[in-house]
Amino acid sequence: MSFRALPRPQVMLLWLAVAALILPALSACDSAPAATATVIQPAITPTDPPAPPTDTPPPPTLTTAATATPTPIPLADRGFVPILCYHHVRDWVQSDTADDRGYIVPPSKFEATLKYLKENGYQSVVAQQVYDYYANGQPLPSKPIMLSFDDDNNNQYTNAVPLLKKYGFNATFFIMTVTLDKENYMTSDQVKELDKEGFDLQPHTWDHRPVTTYKTDADWQQQIVEPKQTLEKLLGHPTPFFAYPYGIYDAASAEKIKSYGYKAAFRLSELSDKDTDPLFAIKRYIANPYFTDDQFQSVLTGNW
Ligand SMILES: [Zn+2]
Repeated sequence: MSFRALPRPQVMLLWLAVAALILPALSACDSAPAATATVIQPAITPTDPPAPPTDTPPPPTLTTAATATPTPIPLADRGFVPILCYHHVRDWVQSDTADDRGYIVPPSKFEATLKYLKENGYQSVVAQQVYDYYANGQPLPSKPIMLSFDDDNNNQYTNAVPLLKKYGFNATFFIMTVTLDKENYMTSDQVKELDKEGFDLQPHTWDHRPVTTYKTDADWQQQIVEPKQTLEKLLGHPTPFFAYPYGIYDAASAEKIKSYGYKAAFRLSELSDKDTDPLFAIKRYIANPYFTDDQFQSVLTGNW
């Protein structure tokens, strides 16, 4: 018997029965429901209103939601942010003394640290974020780490930066302006390039004289005011964070630095003057390549 021989209603019923068997099998093979959904999308006809240009800013309500200030963390609940301070990232050479080597981290050791931090869930933060946290209780990632580099040694650019990028870490570089474009130091172009790439660059005096030794207004201008202006002119935006040369400071010099428009300053592990505004004595640890694992853990928790 052929379909043709059946009366018309029976042909219809047979097709419906066949369709009932085949269609569920077809849809079972297609595990992406979205594919079905796209079929029923109405086609865009020429009478549809034109799509807005892609660079149209989002509606104000979205902008407000995206930039809403998070609830500040109460002062008592603000924890410790570990900050490491690097100087040289290069292999040791024979002429490096044992003391020198405390400030020279071989790239393999540096990479091992970054790998450890990455695998253990640390996320890098920069000076502005640490300031916002300590000053205003603005939240940080759950395991923050600030990586800082002092003195604009060129090996920071050639050896450390590629590894920072490899592991997706940001960093703050404290720049001495007298050495910019000098042999073995970063160039102005490199500093600008790092800034464009999203790294953080901040002043570290003109020639590294300790802030407690400045006597005249000219000293303050040369070491504190002009380096900030130089860097801001080079980068085109404010650079209000400072690192003390050798970590040396006192409350009076901190107040003076504050008066020149700086928002915070970073020291090293030694607390030189307990009367200093805490935002002008933010603790960092020298990233010493001799650290044992236990010592490194103490640095990460601030218990050293
Ligand atoms: Zn320094």
